[in-house]
Amino acid sequence: MHDVVIIGGGPAGLSAALNGAAEGLDVLLLERRAALGGQAGTSARIENYLGWPNGVNGESLTRKATKQAQRLGAVIRANRNVIAVKHNEATGMWVTTATPSPRAYVSRAVILATGVDYRRLDAKVDPNRLALYGAPASAHDECEDRPVMVVGGGNSAGQASLNLSHIGARVALLVRHPLITSMSPYLIERIAADHHIDAQLGEVRLIKSSSIAATSTAPGSSTQTTNFRQTNRGCSWQATSDLVASSA
Ligand SMILES: Cc1cc2nc3c(=O)[nH]c(=O)nc-3n(C[C@H](O)[C@H](O)[C@H](O)COP(=O)(O)OP(=O)(O)OC[C@H]3O[C@@H](n4cnc5c(N)ncnc54)[C@H](O)[C@@H]3O)c2cc1C
Repeated sequence: MHDVVIIGGGPAGLSAALNGAAEGLDVLLLERRAALGGQAGTSARIENYLGWPNGVNGESLTRKATKQAQRLGAVIRANRNVIAVKHNEATGMWVTTATPSPRAYVSRAVILATGVDYRRLDAKVDPNRLALYGAPASAHDECEDRPVMVVGGGNSAGQASLNLSHIGARVALLVRHPLITSMSPYLIERIAADHHIDAQLGEVRLIKSSSIAATSTAPGSSTQTTNFRQTNRGCSWQATSDLVASSA
């Protein structure tokens, strides 16, 4: 029996784990992925975290937070996907069930720190084509020295575009609305100064094994469809219209 079960190993879950353990509670944290850190764990540079005047790499932040929480006594388990949380009225306890090989954990309290999932494209995707959500470092080798399309206008897309540019990719950043509505100003400034990134207003309609079709959402533009033709394997694309001509 635990005092508290925490579901999710992102910054919120890890922070709850270390603070709970610091107060002497019996804390168990369950993370469904193999890697802890959640979204923050995938960030190359977090600029606004307390105590890091020069910014911090997400992986480093996660490693240190995990070590700190464990040193204070929290038990952290990765590869545990929580599939049910139930309250037992008779005992007043919570029962959390996680897979694989379903196992139940009993606790006095449960903290949900499950964060967010990537929004899926509202576009047809050819099942034979690999569409990557997020930009894990493991995908970078595929994109080195190639034109790449990043779809989205949040900080994740901005950070991914900069990371890809740094490894030599030419990036067409396709976003529905002006970046200022969804991305932090410091990322917008860096993107504007990066000659390997070309931000374009548009919306993906269809991803096939050989092309991406996108509709321009630029002000005053008619619903012009642009085809980005695949040029070779991986995430390499060549624009066939003016929309991203400068990135092709
Ligand atoms: C590339 C990138 C860069 C970023 N840069 C910054 C930045 O510079 N500054 C900033 O302030 N923010 C930044 N963010 C946002 C920041 O990372 C998030 O706000 C933060 O990670 C949210 O933390 P969280 O713990 O609430 O959720 P998450 O980080 O989303 O973590 C939730 C965790 O819960 C786990 N989980 C979900 N469901 C289950 C389940 N059923 N069972 C077990 N585990 C489960 C998930 O696998 C995940 O690990 C960035 C995000 C990204 C993607």
